[in-house]
Amino acid sequence: MNAIAAWTAAGVAGAAALALRGALDPNSGLFGPVISRGPRHGDQVFLTFDDGPNPGATARILEILGEREAHAAFFMVGRHAQIFPDVAQRVAAAGHDLGNHTYGHRKLLLMGPDSVRRELVEAHRSIQETAGVSPKLFRAPHGYRNPFVAREARRLGYTTFGWVGSVFDTARPGPREIRRRVAKLLKPGAIILLHDGDAYDPRGDRSQTAAALPGILDDVRDRGLRLGRLTDLVLLST
Ligand SMILES: [Zn+2]
Repeated sequence: MNAIAAWTAAGVAGAAALALRGALDPNSGLFGPVISRGPRHGDQVFLTFDDGPNPGATARILEILGEREAHAAFFMVGRHAQIFPDVAQRVAAAGHDLGNHTYGHRKLLLMGPDSVRRELVEAHRSIQETAGVSPKLFRAPHGYRNPFVAREARRLGYTTFGWVGSVFDTARPGPREIRRRVAKLLKPGAIILLHDGDAYDPRGDRSQTAAALPGILDDVRDRGLRLGRLTDLVLLST
């Protein structure tokens, strides 16, 4: 291989590595704009719950948030909203922000334009029909995206969100550990990813996340922080 061929090969490998990073990193802007955090100078943090609605955890989380008059965002799986329309409706009625988290929680990374469109459009319809509101927020399953995802999200008028850090509440490490992991991430502007549902089991157990929530809300308050709304970040970014 001569020098030019070697450089070309290196360039291609570099571009491929960059593209892969853009596809896998939930906060990469390579495949369209993503909001991964709010203002660092301020007192707001943002709680987000993915993969619901779920008849057990979502209902309990709504109760706890309601008692504290706290707001959160719920990125719903369209299929789950169809199975539990009453829960989806209660999330909207409580005034929380609703987001599209695709219809079937498939990894969008390697999907073509038609499949991507179906995943987003069917979830959009499902959330509209069950919750009675048009979601404006989008988060890709696992954060995995490609150019078709960016195009479809834009077409539907969505703002795409990432998150900071990792709590891994889906591994069910216990409510105390979930609270401890969240506490480490509580800095102004942080968008925290938690789960009120199980991506692949509509009735999956997320009771630990719900049980951790009162302590998490205490920690937010004790640090002089308050819960913001993702929809306010949309307005800031436009
Ligand atoms: Zn998810």
